[in-house]
Amino acid sequence: MRLIPRSFEYVAPKTLQEAVSILRKYKGEAKVLAGGHSLVPLMKLRLSNPQVVVDLKYLRPKLAYIKVAGKTVRIGALTRHAEIEHSAELKKVVPIMPAAAEWIGDMQVRNMGTIGGSLAHADPAADWPVVMLALNATFVANGGAQRKIPATKFFLGPFTTALKPHEILTEIQVPVPPSNHGWSWKKFERKAGDFATVNTAVIVVPGRKGEIADVSIAVGAVHVRPFRATDAEKVLKGEVPTMDLIREAAEKAAAMSEPSADLRGSVEYKREVTKVFVRRALVEACERAKLLKPEAAVVR
Ligand SMILES: Cc1cc2nc3c(=O)[nH]c(=O)nc-3n(C[C@H](O)[C@H](O)[C@H](O)COP(=O)(O)OP(=O)(O)OC[C@H]3O[C@@H](n4cnc5c(N)ncnc54)[C@H](O)[C@@H]3O)c2cc1C
Repeated sequence: MRLIPRSFEYVAPKTLQEAVSILRKYKGEAKVLAGGHSLVPLMKLRLSNPQVVVDLKYLRPKLAYIKVAGKTVRIGALTRHAEIEHSAELKKVVPIMPAAAEWIGDMQVRNMGTIGGSLAHADPAADWPVVMLALNATFVANGGAQRKIPATKFFLGPFTTALKPHEILTEIQVPVPPSNHGWSWKKFERKAGDFATVNTAVIVVPGRKGEIADVSIAVGAVHVRPFRATDAEKVLKGEVPTMDLIREAAEKAAAMSEPSADLRGSVEYKREVTKVFVRRALVEACERAKLLKPEAAVVR
């Protein structure tokens, strides 16, 4: 097997405008390079053969940041997984993000890979898309003018997003969940550092009477794209959570999955682990939101 990319032109623009105009000029034949941890392997395998590689390294000072501004966290697209993993601010306001970052690949991957690169790459088994769906994030793209795309409309299929070929993802905007929210990130992987067999992110907002006022459940790796398990959310929203309801919701989430059989397991196996991991995530999120006492969840 050849592990040498086809020859390509390399450019490293100094500004976002310059980067966008290069992408416009090459009309889909140019690819931006962020952390390179998905693009470079694909180029080596010759599964991606761009004519021009547009390295964003000089844009890092402007596009790598984590800013909490009122009710929104703004994260620059070039922020690395490790920067999110170790962010003290995020651990306080959106703890699911550092918790999920810790599960991405290994230390080398986390030290180079970027959140924007992961979202733009849209691997159906990637971790950030699932977390962003659960958090109701919005993505800011720039292709000359700025455009906002909700996470729910961003992932169109395997390795396909709503980004136009000349657009660069510049910022991720995450609404800060209420301080009493419960959350859970669960990822099932065959071996440490692997992509997910299934991954799920759950956010639960408690109401005044012990009920679930709001819930979002996102699931990845078991469909052509990550999805919100809306049938499962309907089971729980407005209800005081019980293990029976949680089991029912987990079953609905698994029923919405459409996994394909591969080296990570059969269709039936993947549906089963989806059910188990969504159930565990719901229990943990409800416990963190103080809606379920730990002893209530005898079977997780
Ligand atoms: C060994 C290994 C293990 C991994 N394990 C995991 C894992 O467990 N979970 C997981 O989620 N991921 C995993 N990954 C993928 C990793 O997280 C990548 O870093 C990530 O998917 C891509 O980010 P990047 O910054 O490296 O992007 P690049 O590789 O530089 O780019 C990826 C694609 O996105 C485009 N792109 C990049 N940035 C932008 C932007 N700002 N705007 C528009 N387009 C852009 C590029 O043109 C390219 O098409 C793994 C990778 C490796 C090599």
